[in-house]
Amino acid sequence: DKDSDHHRRFLLKLSGEAFAGGGGLGVDPDVVHKVAREIASVVRDGAEIAIVIGGGNFFRGAELQQRGMDRARSDYMGMLGTVMNCLALQDFLEKEGIDSRVQTAITMGQVAEPYIPLRAVRHLEKGRVVIFGAGMGMPYFSTDTTAAQRALEINAELMLMGKNGVDGVYDSDPAHNPEAVKFDALEYSEVITRDLKVADMTAITLCRDNKLPLLVFELLAEGNIARAVKGEKIGTLVSN
Ligand code: UDP
Repeated sequence: DKDSDHHRRFLLKLSGEAFAGGGGLGVDPDVVHKVAREIASVVRDGAEIAIVIGGGNFFRGAELQQRGMDRARSDYMGMLGTVMNCLALQDFLEKEGIDSRVQTAITMGQVAEPYIPLRAVRHLEKGRVVIFGAGMGMPYFSTDTTAAQRALEINAELMLMGKNGVDGVYDSDPAHNPEAVKFDALEYSEVITRDLKVADMTAITLCRDNKLPLLVFELLAEGNIARAVKGEKIGTLVSN
């Protein structure tokens, strides 16, 4: 149902945690390099890729709050962390010969453009990768919700959610339950009624209400981003 000269547009959500590699904290350049190589290859094949990166490898607002900090201020720290991930990815994309622009929801003119949706679309049409940083710029939201919102605003056909260490959605936590069963496909209503841990509920209801499909897959498995873009049967497809 797409014109042959129409470039397919995707919003890729990357977990911040994955960027830390084994370390848990900060950025492991080897991981970012690997992710950048895979993104570069799908962009060379003609896909339009916009990216939202989490910040769990630096700070999560809710965790800092539990340790006594003000929630909104901790959330801003969380958002600033995502920007470092954006810059690291931009650097490795550049080394792959792929042009990119970082757009942040909190203005910081020296390092990134402000978030301007129409300009983001223009970048994509020119074959540039657009990396959205600083989440929505608002405390109490997540980068999953940001990814859903940005996907909708730039008209992405599918949200690709690259997870760290898990290859899809299971009926219970596969890290703790060896009997856990993976779903190949799933409806948003089931995610909600069974309270499945796919993304936070704000993100899930935003996708459901606007009929945005979501593919959950293992980010760091070799070649997986290309498989996801080509529509191969990997991970779990969540839709209405
Ligand atoms: N955050 C926020 N508003 C947003 C996006 C993110 O306040 O719109 C903060 C929040 O504290 C969150 C942190 O940034 O915990 C890092 O993002 P997230 O936890 O979504 O990262 P991920 O778990 O995907 O690595």
